[in-house]
Amino acid sequence: MAKGNIGVTSDNIFPVIKKFLYSDHEIFLRELVSNAVDATQKLKTLSSVGEAKGELGDLRVRVLIDKNKKTLTVQDHGIGMTAEEVDKYINQIAFSGAEEFVNKYKDNAAAIIGHFGLGFYSAFMVSDKVEIFSQSYREDAKAVHWACEGNPEYVMEDTIKADRGTDIVLHINDEFAQYLEDSTVEGLLRKYCKFLPVEIAFGKKKEWKDGKQVETDEDNIINNVNPAWMRKPADLTEDDYKAFYHELYPNQFDEPLFHIHLNVDYPFHLTGILYFPRIKNNMDVHRNKIQLYCNQVFVTDEVEKIVPQYLTLLHGVIDSPDIPLNVSRSYLQSDNNVKKISGHITKKVADKLAELYKNDREDFERKWDDIKLFIQFGMLSDDKFYDRAIGFALMRNLDGKYFTFDEYKEHTREAQTDKNGDLVLLYTQDANANYPYIERAKAKGYDVLVMDGELDVHAMSQLEQKSMPEPGTDDNGKKGAVRFVRVDSDTIENLIRKEDAAADTYSDEQKEGVRKAFEALLPKTDQLNYYVNCEAVAADALPVFLTQNEWMRRMKEMSAHQQGMAFYGNMPDSYILVVNTAHPLVQELIGKMTSEEVEEVVDKKEGEQTVQETVKKTVYTLAGEDERLRQLLDIALLAAGKLQGEALSKFVNRSVSLLG
Ligand code: ADP
Repeated sequence: MAKGNIGVTSDNIFPVIKKFLYSDHEIFLRELVSNAVDATQKLKTLSSVGEAKGELGDLRVRVLIDKNKKTLTVQDHGIGMTAEEVDKYINQIAFSGAEEFVNKYKDNAAAIIGHFGLGFYSAFMVSDKVEIFSQSYREDAKAVHWACEGNPEYVMEDTIKADRGTDIVLHINDEFAQYLEDSTVEGLLRKYCKFLPVEIAFGKKKEWKDGKQVETDEDNIINNVNPAWMRKPADLTEDDYKAFYHELYPNQFDEPLFHIHLNVDYPFHLTGILYFPRIKNNMDVHRNKIQLYCNQVFVTDEVEKIVPQYLTLLHGVIDSPDIPLNVSRSYLQSDNNVKKISGHITKKVADKLAELYKNDREDFERKWDDIKLFIQFGMLSDDKFYDRAIGFALMRNLDGKYFTFDEYKEHTREAQTDKNGDLVLLYTQDANANYPYIERAKAKGYDVLVMDGELDVHAMSQLEQKSMPEPGTDDNGKKGAVRFVRVDSDTIENLIRKEDAAADTYSDEQKEGVRKAFEALLPKTDQLNYYVNCEAVAADALPVFLTQNEWMRRMKEMSAHQQGMAFYGNMPDSYILVVNTAHPLVQELIGKMTSEEVEEVVDKKEGEQTVQETVKKTVYTLAGEDERLRQLLDIALLAAGKLQGEALSKFVNRSVSLLG
């Protein structure tokens, strides 16, 4: 028997392993099963080049639990290790055998799980003692037994082992007794080992017999050794892709919309399949996450830091041996390979979407509402993606027609360019609520977009910004700015100004009188502000109506999604009550105004001094018309969906009595 010290530079590496290296204890199982799979793959490689002789036999990796002995064993029938190899690969833990092997068999050893660093030693996170029993594939090699109790000392001796391969026996620490439970271990195997390339057996398959579950003779195989992403796209049907989707997410019953099969060799290795789910709302988003694999070993489904946030809306798998695994997430973010990977995925996703759009526009339009949130999110968060997506991102008008941004600008340019050469695009977030406003827009021959998506307001602001004319370019208004305005944010005449507003014939004092009369009747609440504005809109427009400033409303809506914008979010909603002085009814009311000469004392500056002066003024009052004013105001509130409760009931009663 040989005793020795493990060859690391630090005195005792175990506390480091236990405390710092792995925050997730459970990954020890992934590491050991990966090593076992690795050893099996190596044996297959050696056999294929004739270096390993004889029958390979049963190559399944087995995970065994012995509750009495409190052991968990990972057993393989791979290449095994000689005493020299245990000494080299286990005792001198700075070496990585995988790396040496890959260098030697570069062209053959395609599927070797490497770069796990201190993989084997992670067993000490959960064990009091770890034993290795190994028989090398080499002829004449003696079997070796190694044992270590979580300190730098180990024992190593010859032993007798019936078959080729390695058993790693973990004497589980009492604190980690859960790793002796079948359900826990099976859960972990299914999480980390579901797609490993060598069959992993854990216990026997069970079946129902006479109302009881009984064990069969058949091995319970955990994994699918040939997952779809490792196969050639040409060998896969639509149904294969869908079946794989459900294999990844057993609790997901919706079908994905479409998929992208990723396959890159240069400048890094990456395979995978990404699926576009139907994204109905934010709630759905993070249930089925993208799973990250390294040579078919599950690494994490917390890919937020690895791929841009909007890509996390997708589902599927990414497999890359070039993503460093046992490092902190913050390090991953700054890793150059990781950056390249996300750049590549972005490009692939955009290409696929462009292809779908080009090949079958009708189908793309049918899917649009389900992928819109994703595409807008991508466009808003990544300029490169914006540049690619602007060619296929769609907008829908009230008639249910879909347009790209360019198409829509063409569609509306003639009718909706205002006198300054700006193109004004009208939209609604709720066609029912905006009905009266939409009617007036349509009467003018204007088109109205439906912008009721969660990110539409942000998307519109971005389109406006991106369409700003370059400073200093003036091509006679042909390439003016583009503005989105909600159809109820002002009078339609003001929204798309064709000529200067007709000067109205009333004096400022008269209008002030009208304004005061309406102001006195307006409802007073903390959440709503109303301002009254007199304007000669048009004789055929409503006499009185509400509008809501586009900019203020948008700021409020955008603040709902953004940090640091609470200021806007907390502001009360403001509406403008437009009194249309071009309407005969309003004109009739103004005609009945009474005027009165009053004297008023005003402050006046004379040089440094303030003196008071008396001036004569005419004050107009709209009196004795209370019922009609109130009725007009209520009609305006009603048309904007703001008349409720007692005020609504009063309005109904008043309407009835006015009829009588
Ligand atoms: P890595 O896998 O990154 O090389 P490990 O500490 O997990 O690091 O393993 C060190 C080395 O020990 C491996 O490279 C391999 O040569 C050897 N080894 C570990 N487990 C086995 C096994 N089950 N069969 C054969 N060799 C093994």
